Amino acid sequence: VKKNGKNGFQFYSHELNEHLQEKIELENDLRKAIPNDELFVYYQPQIRAEDSQMIGVEALVRWGHPTKGTISPGVFIPIAEETGMIYELGTWVLREACRQMKQWHDAGGPLIPISVNLSTQQFHQTHLIDYIKDILEETGLEPQYLELEITESMMMDPTISSHILNELTAYGIRISLDDFGTGYSSLSYLKLLPIHKLKIDRSFIRDITENDNDKAIVSTIISMAQYLKMDVIAEGIETKEQLDILMDNDCQKIQGYYFSRPLPADEVEDVFFAPLRL
Ligand code: C2E
Ligand code: CA
Ligand code: CA
Ligand code: CA
Repeated sequence: VKKNGKNGFQFYSHELNEHLQEKIELENDLRKAIPNDELFVYYQPQIRAEDSQMIGVEALVRWGHPTKGTISPGVFIPIAEETGMIYELGTWVLREACRQMKQWHDAGGPLIPISVNLSTQQFHQTHLIDYIKDILEETGLEPQYLELEITESMMMDPTISSHILNELTAYGIRISLDDFGTGYSSLSYLKLLPIHKLKIDRSFIRDITENDNDKAIVSTIISMAQYLKMDVIAEGIETKEQLDILMDNDCQKIQGYYFSRPLPADEVEDVFFAPLRL
């Protein structure tokens, strides 16, 4: 038993070291990702189901690692957050997304907003509003075409979050509550804070065709949004059956693979702006 235990431990410790080493390597590589131009942004269309019009686009960052290929944000965003690189990375994404949307607007594309994800640290960054203003001025994108996606966990202290959100919304920026329903915070903030949109988390959509509880939760979120006069969008729609349930429940705004995966900018143009011939 002792021998097995020891081997077990050695095996575990070896795995752990490898994992740690891999992480340190990624961390070092990530430092060079911006200067080396390895980051890029994919855009996922948000669709109004009744007429299949594109009503918005979410910016989703990607990392083209020189040897490991494309790395997903689920892997490197947490590293960026732990190491403080998230500020630089977040600024880069925000600028790139605003620049792209302004370019689409200027080319005669639909006047729709770009949604950009904000990390908790960015949300609490001092002078967040000033630095966002700078990027909007620099890129020329009007504030009403920027929508920031934040999460419920940032609403834990309503005094702090109301100050930040009031500044952002007074300037004309829109606020969307991402992954809605997965946080553990009280719902009372919804009536206190300037939030424009609820984004129903994918986890409630996944099994919605078989799971009546998920269906009830989604239907309740949609009604609540309507009562509170907020916009509502569902994410992670992959099938016609899921879409039908949402439409039956009066949720017209949809984001998910059923309509489109996140795409590089030129493919968004091909697929959705084709009639405009940009
Ligand atoms: P999120 O904000 O919840 O973004 C939605 C994620 O769901 C994206 O994954 C998207 O590709 C994926 N998705 C969209 N439709 C479907 C669908 O129909 N089915 C399934 N299975 N998945 C779908 P992605 O791009 O890998 O991003 C993962 C997470 O990384 C994001 O979750 C967001 O939290 C974070 N992230 C991405 N870009 C940024 C960024 O620029 N800044 C920050 N702070 N976080 C980011
Ligand atoms: Ca998001
Ligand atoms: Ca989400
Ligand atoms: Ca998520």
